[in-house]
Order: sequence, then C-alpha cells, then structure tokens
Amino acid sequence: MTRMHLLRLKMPQQMKTSSPAENKDFYTAGGLHVYFKDQLLNNDIDPERVIAKVEGTLPAHLRDEIDTIIFGHFDEFEERNINAFYDSGALYISNVQHDEADLYDDVIHEISHSLEVPYGYDIYGDQKVKKEFLRKREHLYNILWKEGFKYPKSAFLDVEYDKEFDTFLHQEVGYEKLSNLLTGLFISPYAATSLREYFATGFTDFYLYPNHGALKKVSPQLYNKLLYLYDPKRT
Ligand SMILES: [Zn+2]
Repeated sequence: MTRMHLLRLKMPQQMKTSSPAENKDFYTAGGLHVYFKDQLLNNDIDPERVIAKVEGTLPAHLRDEIDTIIFGHFDEFEERNINAFYDSGALYISNVQHDEADLYDDVIHEISHSLEVPYGYDIYGDQKVKKEFLRKREHLYNILWKEGFKYPKSAFLDVEYDKEFDTFLHQEVGYEKLSNLLTGLFISPYAATSLREYFATGFTDFYLYPNHGALKKVSPQLYNKLLYLYDPKRT
C-alpha cells in the first residue's frame, strides 16, 4: 500500500486533464500488460516512459511476480486511505498522479510488496530487520511522548499494520511534524507505519536514490537485505 502524498489530495479538476481515451493499454518490453480501467488525469505523464524506467532500473528477478498493472480508481483506495496496492500478480495504481516521479515511486513501492512472499525468509527470517524496526519504534514512542502525544506503548511494539495507529501518526501527529521528529530515525514518516511498510519504503528509496547514503546510515540492517535482493547470487 502507498500512502497518498499531501499533494495528491488536490481534487482532480485542479489538475490538468487529458482528453478521453488518450491512454491505451500496452505491453512493455519486459512483458507486463498495462491496462487503463480509468484514464490518467494528468496528461503530462507518459506511463510508457515511467514503466520503461522501472524495467530499466529494477533487476528482472525482482519483477517476476508482476504481470499486470491496472490504472484506475478502486474502492480500496478510499476504504484504506491509500492510492496503490498489490494483489495476486497485479499492481493497482491510482489514475490520479501528481507527476511521473510520483508514479514511478508508487510502482516501485508496490513491486516491493510482491517480493515479501517469495523472499520472505531472506528478508525477515533472521529477525534483524524486525529488531531494527522495533528499536526505531521505541525511540519514536519516546520522542512523541516528550512532544505530548501519549499513545499506548503496546502499539509501538506491534509490527503489523494497525489502522488506528496509522491514523494517529498520519492525522493526529501529522506527517509534516512527524517528518521533522523522525529525521535520522526513519527515512520517511510512512516507514514507521508497519514492518512491511518499513521494508517497502526502504526498497523504494534504494531504487530511487542510487547513492544509498541516507538509507545505509539510517537503516543498515534493511540496507543489507536490499543489497541481497538486488543480487541474491553475489552476496
Ligand atoms: Zn506499501
């Protein structure tokens, strides 16, 4: 799942709109079927270019789980306050995107979720990423407590996604404030959501920012796993 950015809360009519039927379904060089249930609402975005970039960046073995990308509006987006999700070989991506960078980020992020089953043991088996995440959550608990946000500690020690806790971070504390409080602890506010989102945001960062400096420093255990996933044969 990917959290909507603040920018994405703009109403569609404020964005540039494209003429109908401009986005045509297509197949990529890597064999993905890209399907438009609904047209993209921003005609500055070329989805073929963005997905070609994804295929040029992500090693082929990390794209094996995905066969379809569907653009559109889905009820799950509103039910879960998200704008993209992965399910059974398909990426469901919002047709409301701010720009190409935004879309690229969403596609990489959701592909990471497709890897949690086939690479589950490699990522989570030795518990190192989980321990790293929980240490960060404890720090976060202390930071927020000092700031006057007194939410039960048990929630911070639960690695699974929890809607109420998500709402607490996203809306009660707010991502802008959280972003400042988290500096050096998590790479982004969304990384604190759950263990799975900790992995997904790290994975996305790894492929968005090739120098890896911040990621390696902030999340060294996660970074080791991402290096392994990049080339499982080498490490
Ligand atoms: Zn996610």
